[in-house]
Amino acid sequence: MHFVDTYISEKSIKLATEVLKSGFVSAGKYADKFESELEDQLGIVNPVTVNSGTSALYLALAVAGIQPGDEVIIPAQTFIATGFSVLMHYAVPVFADIQYETANIDPESIRQKITDKTRAIIPVHWAGYPCDLDEINDIAREYDLAVIEDAAHALGSVYKGKPIGAVSRFTAFSFQAIKHLTTVDGGALCCLDKDDTYQAKRRRWFDIDRENSKPSILGERIYDAKNTGYKCHMNDLSAAIGIGNLEDFPLKLKRRIEIAGIYRDEFKDIPGLQLLTYKNDRKCAYWLFTMLVERRIDFIKKMKDKNVPASVMHQRIDNNSVFGGIRPDLAVQSKFDEDQVSIPVHSGLTDKDVELVVDTIKKGW
Ligand SMILES: *Cc1c(COP(=O)(O)O)cnc(C)c1O
Repeated sequence: MHFVDTYISEKSIKLATEVLKSGFVSAGKYADKFESELEDQLGIVNPVTVNSGTSALYLALAVAGIQPGDEVIIPAQTFIATGFSVLMHYAVPVFADIQYETANIDPESIRQKITDKTRAIIPVHWAGYPCDLDEINDIAREYDLAVIEDAAHALGSVYKGKPIGAVSRFTAFSFQAIKHLTTVDGGALCCLDKDDTYQAKRRRWFDIDRENSKPSILGERIYDAKNTGYKCHMNDLSAAIGIGNLEDFPLKLKRRIEIAGIYRDEFKDIPGLQLLTYKNDRKCAYWLFTMLVERRIDFIKKMKDKNVPASVMHQRIDNNSVFGGIRPDLAVQSKFDEDQVSIPVHSGLTDKDVELVVDTIKKGW
């Protein structure tokens, strides 16, 4: 049994082969098609495909106009990429506390961290469970901040009836190898606003307007870069793999949610184990199944004895030297650090695997 899963469908292999044989592997019709299929099938808004989730975050901060020295509020409970996307702009990540019951950023803590330098908030949907987006967007409106959702865990998640990717000004997805939907490496930035989308499309490719720039008689496109452009578009090979995997995505997601449902049912009353508390007004895509357990080392060892991989997926990132060391004021984060552990929840698990996980945990540790 693996802790996480990489899924590449037969169709992905077929489409990828087509691209490789075509002689055109850069961004082209497959990348365009992947974008329109993501939008049509998942309801995410204006997806602009890029070469990683990190690039999607970085690009969002660029389009939001983040400048060196600006402050961006993020949780410490995330993957280090979230923090680096801020540092890459020479901006300052400011760490807010989380809610113990969800591992998501706490809107109250966001309020306390706002200064006159704050320009953006990056909420991270831990495990795929949507953050308190109404509260966060209210704060953003009040202080004129950009909201950039880090939805690397949350493709297929839903907030109050809307898919994640259709709620805040910016949403960044990752299609990295072990995420819900993989393009091997890749990502997408969703923008609600048309001009943001236009800017994201330009700046992912050297700030050149591909759609409207025509080649001159000399051969090269006529263009005028107005801002710093990057080189972070998605190529057709990755896009072909994404298109091929998208077809199976709904079934794969359903299976994750089904397994999570079994866990939630079976682990309701286990001494020393607390499930995360999820509200009914939003749906979790369950990239992870995180729990809070007492005597965590004993738990992990007991699971390992039965070949069940239990693991702490990401530890707080503020403790890295590059971010200046652990923030002592994040009290809830510190408590979460002691107790969090995740168990496998992906669609590669068989019924027998799920049974083994359930039985092992029910026997205690
Ligand atoms: C995976 C991940 C990223 C980065 O995605 P890449 O595609 O690997 O760049 C960012 N944030 C979180 C929370 C992630 O899990």
